[in-house]
Amino acid sequence: MAASCQRWLACADLQQEVYCHLAEYVPRILCQGGGMAEHREEQREEQREELALQLLLLAPLEWFLLGGEPAAGLALLQQGGGSAALCGHVFKVGEPTYSCRECAADPTCVLCMQCFLASAHRHHRYRMTTSGGGGFCDCGDAEAWKTGPSCQNHTPADQNRETEEVRPLLAWF
Ligand SMILES: [Zn+2]
Ligand SMILES: [Zn+2]
Ligand SMILES: [Zn+2]
Repeated sequence: MAASCQRWLACADLQQEVYCHLAEYVPRILCQGGGMAEHREEQREEQREELALQLLLLAPLEWFLLGGEPAAGLALLQQGGGSAALCGHVFKVGEPTYSCRECAADPTCVLCMQCFLASAHRHHRYRMTTSGGGGFCDCGDAEAWKTGPSCQNHTPADQNRETEEVRPLLAWF
């Protein structure tokens, strides 16, 4: 897979590359059939098929749909999706900031007052500090918080929105 990724990153015509890849692997994976193996063997075969499907078919499709490395593409989708999932409030000097001793990934992860009051962390062991200015609210950043990354105001209306948008495209293939 890593080799393919390298190749796809470098290639000029991603679409062409992905089509070739699919033409090569779809028949191999989906036409294996057989069915004469004993039950346990069959199950293992199914698992392998599923894994192969995931690695060889779905990952390339993600590449194709997102036009690049999947994780980066998804991040772009999230940013460009226009959903107000991130607060990003920039602190002024002297503004109170709140962190949660239980849930913050590190001590620099902070919430603005509005997000803090609308978050689960107000019931946790929190820490209030005064901003020196310039930092921003980490509400909505899943990597900044072990639990409760979003306050009530910044919880996406539908957590599964992203996958639901991609699925119909996948079904088309
Ligand atoms: Zn905020
Ligand atoms: Zn918030
Ligand atoms: Zn907390």
